[in-house]
Amino acid sequence: MPTDFQTRFERYAELAVKAWLNVQRGQRLALVAPLEAAPLARVISKYAYLNGSPFVQFLWNDSEAARIRFEFAPRDSWKEYPEEFALLAQRALERGDALLSITAQDPDVLRGLDLEFVSRAQKVAAEKNKPVQDAVRRNQVNWLGIGMPVPAWAKRVFPALSEQDAVARLWDAIFYVCRVDEPDPVAAWRAHAADLGARRAILNQKQYTALHFYGGETDLTVGLPQGHVWVGVTDTTPGGITFVANAPTEEIFTLPHRERVDGVVTSSKPLSVRGNVIEKFVLTFQGGRVVQIRANQHRDVLEKLLMTDDGAARLGEVALVPHSSPVSKLGLFFYNPLFDENAASHLALGSCYAQCLQGGVEMSDQELTAHGANDSLVHLDFMVGSDQINVDGIGADDTREPVMRAGEWAFAT
Ligand code: ZN
Ligand code: ZN
Repeated sequence: MPTDFQTRFERYAELAVKAWLNVQRGQRLALVAPLEAAPLARVISKYAYLNGSPFVQFLWNDSEAARIRFEFAPRDSWKEYPEEFALLAQRALERGDALLSITAQDPDVLRGLDLEFVSRAQKVAAEKNKPVQDAVRRNQVNWLGIGMPVPAWAKRVFPALSEQDAVARLWDAIFYVCRVDEPDPVAAWRAHAADLGARRAILNQKQYTALHFYGGETDLTVGLPQGHVWVGVTDTTPGGITFVANAPTEEIFTLPHRERVDGVVTSSKPLSVRGNVIEKFVLTFQGGRVVQIRANQHRDVLEKLLMTDDGAARLGEVALVPHSSPVSKLGLFFYNPLFDENAASHLALGSCYAQCLQGGVEMSDQELTAHGANDSLVHLDFMVGSDQINVDGIGADDTREPVMRAGEWAFAT
């Protein structure tokens, strides 16, 4: 295992370009990154060029500048949006560019701000970016989201360490969960993808009508629509490019039926919502909709998010992750859903992924809804799995089969 930072950093960038995003010879790359991630973005561009990409376009963003706006801009200016920025991303997708987004954000960047203004402005941004989000959701191009430590994020994860040590420790954690330190990272990724792929195939063949999550305070039945498709690990574009959309990735997931979720579910890990960390909350569902929220803190933040639109209070994703996944084994809360959602089985409030429904990618919004798929401007993952949670698959004839026991896979491949 390589121990020097530069080698691991380069391996990470190379895995991103080759093993995950799978940039094609002749394919341009659009790289969305915060200013802080410039060093990583540059190394990624090097591997993109080495892999035959003719051009890498950088789309920079700046969360500190955004914070200054949220704090000082006139309160009636929430409608302002740089149309050109959304158009650049849209053009890139139309051209068939690969899309890579780096997350390197202070999880508390929005703390203490005027929530009303922030959520209005973020809603405008989500609306302007909907064509891009939809194209991504439909896997129109190969895309990838990865993370990179910044001091504020690292200090949040390791508050007792110095800034420098915290960043180093967070890098170690990212390299570990991304299997960068395996003797042969590419081979390790292939083995991992093969195992999850086999489970995905079995669940697709089973076509359970619902999953029952139970254990601890959780007792929740999640209906699955007819023709649901389990996806995860790898995706394929209409043009046939296979890629890994999120690294690390430990989940396989599908969509719940927007009207058939009933019972009570308890979060099993802290959740970061718009810069506020909620340690624990309990949601009660009836007919697919959240009818009660209990939380020991920031209940208003969660409630506000659920009121974004009708779909925000319904589920768009159900994902299975074994309790023994590297992210879970590490036992670290990353304060970043890109990592934390790989720590446990989870649900997401809000939009679903159209490819989780047979023929879904070609369906109109109305058709998707008619098939039980949920739509929303938000997509918020929250963890529900732990070593206490069992999952049963319920068949069309009401028979039950074990899918997970005490947080681990309970069927053979
Ligand atoms: Zn997920
Ligand atoms: Zn999700």
